[in-house]
Amino acid sequence: MFGKKTNMNNGLVDRFGRVHDYLRLSITNHCNFACTYCKPDDKNCEKSGSLLLAEELIELSKAFVQAGIKKIRLTGGEPLLHKDFERIIEEISRLPVELAVTTNGYFLDKYFNTLKRNGVQKLNISLDSLKRERFKTITQRNAFDRVLANLILAIKLGFEVKLNAVIMKGVNEDEIIDFARITNNYNLTVRFIEFMPFKTNNWNLGKTFSRSNILETLQKTFHLISMDPVAGQTAEYYKIPDAKGKIGLISTLSHPFCDECNRIRVMADGKMKNCLFGNKEYDLITPYRQGKNLFDVIHESLASKNAMHGGNHPMHKNSNAPNQNRDMFSIGG
Ligand code: SAM
Ligand code: SF4
Repeated sequence: MFGKKTNMNNGLVDRFGRVHDYLRLSITNHCNFACTYCKPDDKNCEKSGSLLLAEELIELSKAFVQAGIKKIRLTGGEPLLHKDFERIIEEISRLPVELAVTTNGYFLDKYFNTLKRNGVQKLNISLDSLKRERFKTITQRNAFDRVLANLILAIKLGFEVKLNAVIMKGVNEDEIIDFARITNNYNLTVRFIEFMPFKTNNWNLGKTFSRSNILETLQKTFHLISMDPVAGQTAEYYKIPDAKGKIGLISTLSHPFCDECNRIRVMADGKMKNCLFGNKEYDLITPYRQGKNLFDVIHESLASKNAMHGGNHPMHKNSNAPNQNRDMFSIGG
């Protein structure tokens, strides 16, 4: 799988000494939603012919685990939309790796048993509004009731749920307090995510609602207790006193966690990204199909990893310049 020459025991370390043990594997770029901040053009999707087969997703996962990956998150597009999702989960869960899923929640009720049976505990579920009509405007789908019901069921079934809400100025920043209040009664983590720029998502600085804005909004209403950071953690966590759940802030733009980055991304077309914001991609599937040494490509990609934001930091932080990085539904988050 890796060819004859392997350095597997050295792990996946970049030139800054960061150990990469977390793979985010996008198993499809298809999605049943079209969230305006992620996939504003409903039809903007690559043809399925260029996507990896289930077998290839499984074999690539095995290869990465051999190379040092300890956690795999399946994402997309919408991963539960993959026709072979059950098989993929079953095969990857046999590997010595922690398995997690990021989903829009729509199909969860179909897969709760599969997820439980295969030891998947961690579910990140996206929900950007608690208002039915606004949810419809953001996702371009009339699916609020089903997603909310599945999210509540996931908590009741004992999954470790993180609710991900992308906060955008003028869109949903007025719901921050309502989102935070959910943690009073439910054992989940509500995470507020800064709106990030990608190729076609019409991002500009004026639409962002930064970490400091979010924190200030929360602190006007709650006495937040700050929680101790855990190594490799990308969010900062808080708690409302006596609340059952937690609050997290993911501030990739204003408070980057690049120093701690342990992530590799592989997308549904077999390309690897060493950074969410890096434009450069490394083709894994062509050498894999040719029986070539995949490990060399992975190392070449890691060797070129920049210290921060894929080397694009100023553009992301300060300007409204167009972004050439592919869209989030295609990267997987
Ligand atoms: N379809 C699944 C979902 O929505 O959870 C998985 C894929 S989605 C691309 C993964 C995560 O990326 C979601 O939590 C979504 O909110 C987040 N996301 C997408 N576009 C984003 C953007 N422009 N800025 C910040 N987060 C974004
Ligand atoms: Fe689909 Fe998830 Fe992107 Fe929404 S955020 S369009 S659900 S991939």
